[in-house]
Amino acid sequence: IKGVDMPIIIVGSGYGGAVAALRLCQAGKKVVMLEMGMNWGKSGLPYSSLLKPEKSAAWLKTKTIAPFFNIFSIKPFTGVLDRLDFEHINIWVGRGVGGGSLVNGGMAVTPKKDYFKEVFPNLDTEKFYSVYFPKARQELKVNIVREEFLNECPYYKFNKVGEEEAHKAGFKTMRVPNVYDFSYMEKEYKNEVPRSALNNEVIYGNNYGKNSLDKTYLQKALETGNLEILDLHAVDDIKLNEDASYTLNVRQINTSGKTVSEKTFRCQKLILAAGTMGTLQILLKSNAVNNFPVNENIGKNWGNNGNFMTGRNWVRPLTGGTGVKQSTIPVGGVDNWDDPEHPFFAEIAPLPMGMDVATALYLQINKVDKKGSVSYSNGKLNLDWNESHTQKMKENVDFFIKKMNKANGGTRAHFLFKDGFGANICYHPLGGCVLGEATSEFGKLKNHQNLFVLDGSLIPGTIGVNPFVTIVAITEYCIENLIKQNEFA
Ligand code: FAD
Repeated sequence: IKGVDMPIIIVGSGYGGAVAALRLCQAGKKVVMLEMGMNWGKSGLPYSSLLKPEKSAAWLKTKTIAPFFNIFSIKPFTGVLDRLDFEHINIWVGRGVGGGSLVNGGMAVTPKKDYFKEVFPNLDTEKFYSVYFPKARQELKVNIVREEFLNECPYYKFNKVGEEEAHKAGFKTMRVPNVYDFSYMEKEYKNEVPRSALNNEVIYGNNYGKNSLDKTYLQKALETGNLEILDLHAVDDIKLNEDASYTLNVRQINTSGKTVSEKTFRCQKLILAAGTMGTLQILLKSNAVNNFPVNENIGKNWGNNGNFMTGRNWVRPLTGGTGVKQSTIPVGGVDNWDDPEHPFFAEIAPLPMGMDVATALYLQINKVDKKGSVSYSNGKLNLDWNESHTQKMKENVDFFIKKMNKANGGTRAHFLFKDGFGANICYHPLGGCVLGEATSEFGKLKNHQNLFVLDGSLIPGTIGVNPFVTIVAITEYCIENLIKQNEFA
């Protein structure tokens, strides 16, 4: 196709894109979604397990890229997991119809009300907690594991040990909701259905059990008959036309990443939902190559959501550590947010390596005291982000690990990270196109009439918990108001 005219185009099929698509389709609008990754549901190809990485394991790489599992050679294929490498930080992202929902741990956490208020002082906090967050949780099919199941299931020994040790060290823990269907998991455990979370599937996709976006928002949007999803369509750059419409330069690729066709699309209304890094790449690259107008706030106020991985070795080696069998779906966290000196939240993460590595793994989420910024030069994105940005997070990790080890024994996980500190591991890139700064109060890009940004880049670098529930709530809020204001009439 050359020069196709579309009314509304959404770039990216992750959380922001899926929510926007559903609400626009329900309002009777025809929407075309361009997604660079593959439509796995349609392809019929299976997702691979962590222990046997195949096609879905990585986005066009010759080696697997999951943290701690990067030892396998693979054939380049348009898999679901990608990693963007910068000097001081590696950022993992999902690719495919469903975006990050295909690869993530499904942890569906609503932020602390006070912190949400601090991060978004101009939003109506009460309305978010009475309307948009409940709506997000309902559409995403968020549920909570049964305590009886947790206690009896050996696959959650890692969580039990993690919680007991945290309590012994004087920390509070919390139960973490998830979009993985725990009633399905209970059937897995009884061998009544095929196994997924109990069969090492998660970061390369789940064949069963997980309510990823293709099973929730996107499915509902497709059922309206108003949504068309074009997968394996990568947007390279965009142009602003004189009549305030947009032209998109798009490459259609095959599953080896080869370009099979170069296309241009034109649209009246454009929604960028390519994820924090994807949206920034499109805007900043287009500015560099096409003189695309951007405002001075684009690229500013970026953060890693305080992500900092850490671990402890030889946890209770005599009593059997955390176990060989581990569910891939996290259900617990250490909640130290109320400590004024060391506020953090730490996910008790599984490490399903197929053997007992006697290692406790944690993904800590901290405040971001010093924000970074993103720019574009020499044909690529650059991140102003270094050790100074993660210094306070490192102090929190040090505090946490020392206290845990003192109470329970153990050493820093030198085996997994240099010195036991994984400052460079980021799953939650946020910001760079912040709501009310780079955009209007509802996500319309400043200095533009017909361009909207709806994804993680709206959140100013931090939200204190895993971010997708917040991305969904903010998008619900923005798209509801944009439709009300007749922006898509
Ligand atoms: P994304 O979900 O990233 O979607 C963007 C989409 O746009 C992608 O499909 C991408 O392929 C596509 N795209 C990008 N550029 C282009 C282009 N140029 N042309 C066409 N398409 C493009 N969060 C939680 O809340 N809980 C968790 O448990 C959790 N675990 C995680 C585990 C891992 C391993 C990872 C990587 C992330 C995890 N996250 C988790 C984070 C969460 O997945 C992301 O915050 C979320 O997916 C971001 O949503 P988004 O709408 O901003 O964009």
